[in-house]
Amino acid sequence: MSGTVVNLPTQLADGLPLTVDVSAHPRSDDERAAILASPGFGSHFSDHMVLVKWDVQNGWHDAKIQAYQPFSLDPANAILHYAQSIFEGLKAYRQDDGTLASFRPEANAARFAKSARRLAMPPFPEDAFVAACDALVTIDSAWVPEGGEMSYYLRPFMFASESFLGVRPSNEYYFCVIGSPAAGYFSDGVQAVSVYASEDYVRAAPGGTGEAKCGGNYAASLLAQQQAADEGCDQVVWLDAIERKYVEEMGGMNLFFVYGKDPDNVEIVTPDLTGTLLPGITRESLLAAAGELGIRATERKISLAEWRDGVASGDISESFACGTAAVITPVGSVKARTGNFDISTEMGPVTAKLRQLLLGVQHGTTPDTHNWIHKIG
Ligand SMILES: *Cc1c(COP(=O)(O)O)cnc(C)c1O
Repeated sequence: MSGTVVNLPTQLADGLPLTVDVSAHPRSDDERAAILASPGFGSHFSDHMVLVKWDVQNGWHDAKIQAYQPFSLDPANAILHYAQSIFEGLKAYRQDDGTLASFRPEANAARFAKSARRLAMPPFPEDAFVAACDALVTIDSAWVPEGGEMSYYLRPFMFASESFLGVRPSNEYYFCVIGSPAAGYFSDGVQAVSVYASEDYVRAAPGGTGEAKCGGNYAASLLAQQQAADEGCDQVVWLDAIERKYVEEMGGMNLFFVYGKDPDNVEIVTPDLTGTLLPGITRESLLAAAGELGIRATERKISLAEWRDGVASGDISESFACGTAAVITPVGSVKARTGNFDISTEMGPVTAKLRQLLLGVQHGTTPDTHNWIHKIG
């Protein structure tokens, strides 16, 4: 990498100037090529990071791009104790014409601001969020892999950084963006996943933080995920906290059910946003795009019993989960104390069509009729 970087903005937003401190030790072309040949998911990080500070006196300030590096944390740092932290996940793609683009970053910026408000944190300006992601993709563009389902996964996050053990919102925060080249999310490719419907644990209750993309939701989910693994399943499926009856989500992905086998009369159903589900951008994109494929899309409650009965009667022909990291993944079988059932070992035709549509738009091979593609550089 050269010492000067073109196309970087001088500010992330009005009043938030950006300093660029180019890494003195970027990986060599050979090292990077070896990583990009088989990046996996979330285990390799590009050469730089974006960092912005907030404190009560100065608001958001001191925005910089610098070499990817560890934080030094005081043992009394609030983040280590009270989990005031939120994150986002979005992807940048090398389009077929070689240009770089990300998918709906404004939607992630808006959700990030909402998550911040729920966690009593200062919202990060939405235009600065998009600019920060663009800046990292620009300086580390060599890390955006080409082809297939390859992408560069962006992980913006924000956390309390004040050293203070009193319980109240922190008076200092860091906003940060790191990036990671990514192949498909599930290590064994797009195969149907098996799921375990957790009847012992819940992910989120009404009035809780289920709608926010916060680290604490994930901490609370891990034991159930472990239980699913102990039951021989790939993923946990969450039921509602009150009746333990309605299906909400699968791990970190939203769920869809395909009703009808006649290709001219297909409906996709996804659990409605009751306040306990994470409002996925992939979910919303599928709801908006289904019509283009002649598929009706409905948001409503669906119980585990309806899922089981629908599969048994043939009314439900396919089930799949969706999210940024793994795009769309078929659900093959369900295990629950109230009875197990098998759906399919393969990806169904409706799932495959929706998957193709989304990947096509993201990689620039399908017309972007919704204006979802955000060009970078
Ligand atoms: C991030 C996330 C999703 C998926 O959201 P996308 O915007 O589609 O990536 C679904 N459920 C949970 C719990 C999540 O954290």
